Amino acid sequence: MNLAPYACDPAQTRGRRHAESPAPTRTDFQRDRDRIVHSTAFRRLVYKTQVFLNHEGDLFRTRLTHSLEVAQLGRSIARALQLNEDLVEAIALAHDLGHTPFGHAGQDALNACMAEHGGFEHNLQSLRVVDSLEERYPQFDGLNLTFETREGILKHCSRSNAEQLEAQEPQGIGQRFLNRTQPSLEAQLCNLADEIAYNAHDIDDGVRSGLITLAQLQDIPLFDGFRREALQAHPVLANSGRRLLFETIRRMLSAQVYDVIAATQAALDKAQPETVDEVRAAAPLLCFSQAMRQQSLALKQFLLHQLYRHPKVMDTTRQARQVITELFALYAQTPQEMQAGFAAQAQATQTGVEATQVKLRVVADYIAGMTDRFASREHERLTGQKLLT
Ligand code: MG
Repeated sequence: MNLAPYACDPAQTRGRRHAESPAPTRTDFQRDRDRIVHSTAFRRLVYKTQVFLNHEGDLFRTRLTHSLEVAQLGRSIARALQLNEDLVEAIALAHDLGHTPFGHAGQDALNACMAEHGGFEHNLQSLRVVDSLEERYPQFDGLNLTFETREGILKHCSRSNAEQLEAQEPQGIGQRFLNRTQPSLEAQLCNLADEIAYNAHDIDDGVRSGLITLAQLQDIPLFDGFRREALQAHPVLANSGRRLLFETIRRMLSAQVYDVIAATQAALDKAQPETVDEVRAAAPLLCFSQAMRQQSLALKQFLLHQLYRHPKVMDTTRQARQVITELFALYAQTPQEMQAGFAAQAQATQTGVEATQVKLRVVADYIAGMTDRFASREHERLTGQKLLT
């Protein structure tokens, strides 16, 4: 791998929280990627909702296929910019590990349940998964990933959570949210690759579901420009909605990838960072061009109003909120209904405010780890109501 001076070099890693001897054939970032792929939380992503619930159809994106698409886009861009592809892949595959069942509806509901007890942020939860919730190794909790992978996973963080992280791990991954500095280019790239991936696949899934139409999409300049291009190059596509859709999305994805590469290269040429720390101290360098940023925003707005807030999506959202909220109340009341390990942890501290905090965080961890269908079944077992199955 040919690395630019501003890329993350595994030989210069800031290391793991628990020292380990190096692997004989793999770099530290490759090792991180492998640990993520073998984790329990990673396998659960296949049964977690992106936008459409898992039971609504077999062809919609799940958190797993979404994460694979982010990794693919990220690696393509990383290679062109001479960034570290292995690190990008590790971050991309781990970035959604902390998501609750039922997509954003689930996360909003859990955040509301935890409002008085520190809240719930899915980015921070992804970090909790890799730092402590995975139980696979004899010497430590979590996956003991490198600083650089953990830095990329923690995409956003509130100030109060960053202060807590900083107290636990001085000058660690919480620090940049207090200093308002940037993460590595590999981390910045995963952010943008995430956005490129979901904008494209939500169009595909939205049309497949019938909730948005090709006709509506003609009002979106980013989409319509490439639709026209596709039709001009292949007039036969006028007879095939599906192929026209795919060819348009394919062109749109390519154009966004090339746009990021060109705009970022120009920003790098101007800023001339010579180390990763110079990247961290600089303004964000990984970017779309101005024109692409605006077009991408318009597409996001369209998806927000026409798809994510579509009455049919909102209806499942309401049910998801009910399942999560009721599960939370039930486990908080009777922690022994959770699996043995969680039940024991929830009941470990007996009395006082701290006991309540510990218990509710365990409940939140337990619910956040559930797949869509496990959450529905647990809800049915405990309430007798059949929702979202
Ligand atoms: Mg994502």
